Amino acid sequence: MKKDLFDFLNTDLQFVKGVGPKVAARFDDVIGGRRVLDFLLHRPSGVRPRELTDAAADATPGQTITIELLVKSVRPGGVFRGRRAPTQIICNDHAGGVVVIQFFNSNFLEYWLKKLPVGAWRIVSGKLDRTGTRNIINHPEFIEEPENISKIPSIQVIYPAGEGLTQKTFTAVRDQIFAALPDKLIGTDDNTREFFEALHDIHFPRSADDLQPNATSMAKLAYYELLAHQSAIAISRRARLDARNRRTVRPKKYDLMDRFAATLPFELTGAQSRALNEIYSDMARDMPMMRLVQGDVGSGKTIVALSAAVRMAESGAQTAFLAPTDTLAQQHYAKLKPMCDKIGIVCDILTGRDKGAARREKLISLRSGRTRVVVGTHALFSEDVEYKDLGLIIIDEQHRFGVSQREALRAKGAHPDMLALSATPIPRTLSMTMYGDMDVSIINEKPAGRLPIKTSKIPMARYNELVSHLRPQIDAGAQVFWVCPLVEEGDESNMTAAATRHADLQKYFENVGLVHGQMDKKARDAVMAEFARDGSDMQILVATTVIEVGIDVPHATIIVIENAERFGLAALHQLRGRVGRGNKQSYCILLFGRNLSEDGMRRLDVLCETEDGFAIAEQDLMMRGVGELMGTRQSGWIQYHFVDYRMHRDLFRLASSAAMEMSAPDGWTRDLMYIFDRGDTISA
Ligand code: ADP
Ligand code: MG
Repeated sequence: MKKDLFDFLNTDLQFVKGVGPKVAARFDDVIGGRRVLDFLLHRPSGVRPRELTDAAADATPGQTITIELLVKSVRPGGVFRGRRAPTQIICNDHAGGVVVIQFFNSNFLEYWLKKLPVGAWRIVSGKLDRTGTRNIINHPEFIEEPENISKIPSIQVIYPAGEGLTQKTFTAVRDQIFAALPDKLIGTDDNTREFFEALHDIHFPRSADDLQPNATSMAKLAYYELLAHQSAIAISRRARLDARNRRTVRPKKYDLMDRFAATLPFELTGAQSRALNEIYSDMARDMPMMRLVQGDVGSGKTIVALSAAVRMAESGAQTAFLAPTDTLAQQHYAKLKPMCDKIGIVCDILTGRDKGAARREKLISLRSGRTRVVVGTHALFSEDVEYKDLGLIIIDEQHRFGVSQREALRAKGAHPDMLALSATPIPRTLSMTMYGDMDVSIINEKPAGRLPIKTSKIPMARYNELVSHLRPQIDAGAQVFWVCPLVEEGDESNMTAAATRHADLQKYFENVGLVHGQMDKKARDAVMAEFARDGSDMQILVATTVIEVGIDVPHATIIVIENAERFGLAALHQLRGRVGRGNKQSYCILLFGRNLSEDGMRRLDVLCETEDGFAIAEQDLMMRGVGELMGTRQSGWIQYHFVDYRMHRDLFRLASSAAMEMSAPDGWTRDLMYIFDRGDTISA
């Protein structure tokens, strides 16, 4: 790839004009990255028409309208008797109706007044609100002089909701990126230019049709994404079959396995034993293991992975256990360390937090082979980390890592075995195309003694009833997660929704916590830690979907999901998995709003009927493609940007045979592999 294009794609969004580190951090949470490239791959979810209208009274509140207004008078805002009043600009439309334009931020007052001089006609475009018969437009998105009406687009693109990011921020960032892009494309080849033109088409759709899976540009991007993915699979499959990569099977030196089995406080489930047998027989072959263990959260994958590590330690070789975040690495370490201690294996942790002398000591222990099992984050494959004999790599939440990251770690050993863990159930019909280079073991059985979660759906209208039902449960010591969804438009009202619920629940309960994505991370972690603490008396934790990502509170037994119909099945399944982790009966209550569609109802029914992630994923696949609904990155089973696995089956086949025919990827395919590699920090 041309260097200045490459550098541009890797530019941190905080360096885009109008985006600082804070907004860039919001992007990181919402779109799963903070580079220009991550933004480009973030597909809009739809378009919204800007209805051109003469009379605001005829338009429906909530609609985005474009309207010509005569500016009549200004009522400056400010603080009156402790209440903040907005600046109001009173206007008339062509039908003689009154429209009030409101600005809450008085810092830019002069700027607005200049754009809306009294006595002048202006074209204004924004979302229409109505209180009583008053028509209001808060913070219009466009204000133009009548002769410049063409500067206002007739439709507006909508990006998937993001906590703390407005549509305006999205479009401003988009406009800047695409203004800078043509320069970077000078001197590139046809493929590259076509690719970025297709990206342009979907970020600037002319109609809703342009965002359908079968639209030319969408299908083109989907094909390229599949080609990138299938090429990566083909490379790793070829490497694995390559005779030069045969290794000698490690002899057993110690008797750790028996001792380990004796320390386990429980019997393995049938599914766990099956997975382990498959792993052991892989490890006994001269071809490196490449196995994916799929199983729902709580199905007991960690113990299976640790058993494999112990088997490796028996031969004297080392295991690296890679987790996507610091917190998850700590969690694993806390679990693994005592188990390793019992059988005398040295287990250590290595993350970005380790610095100076302490880190050096850890590295020495790894290099000498003394440390047998090391848990950690990306730090595990930093350049200066050396292993004496890295025999096994375990990758938790494998979809969070890119191929290049996997390869970087693999290069630290001599044809090490690879075991990937995933809590994301992929329907069997898809796993061949998704994981063509891996063998798959499925753990579809929960450890004995787990009670199924009781799931029910109730209308929001019964909110008061629900609250009074919670009272005795909470008095008996139950802890409740209360999840508020993102509001569709993705503006500050997300936070407001959660804050409002928090305030209301505080009327009924004594100790209610609140976390949302706009709190700084430290404050958020502190509230979550308080809720999770043993003996905590926080009764309810109100949260936006931030809790979807890795919080473990074994004693929480109730989860309420508000406006559950707005979530996709994958997200609902993940959220429900926050409870049912201990041995007490757990409950999941799906609250639905008034506008429940038939599809929405069916989704809730699926949840009520089954807890089996594979069954739910299979249903989801039948009911919809990728990316409808709450389009944030955690919501889908698979992290594809443009591929719709219902609509693009033929593209799967095409891409896979194209990838197989290439004996080695050409330059363009390499670029694609780079562009679509999933992972946080990719090296060129
Ligand atoms: P996962 O990684 O799949 O989410 P874990 O391996 O963390 O699940 O297991 C969840 C919990 O279940 C842990 O506390 C673990 O000790 C326990 N567990 C695992 N296997 C069994 C089993 N066969 N019987 C009883 N408890 C088990
Ligand atoms: Mg786990």
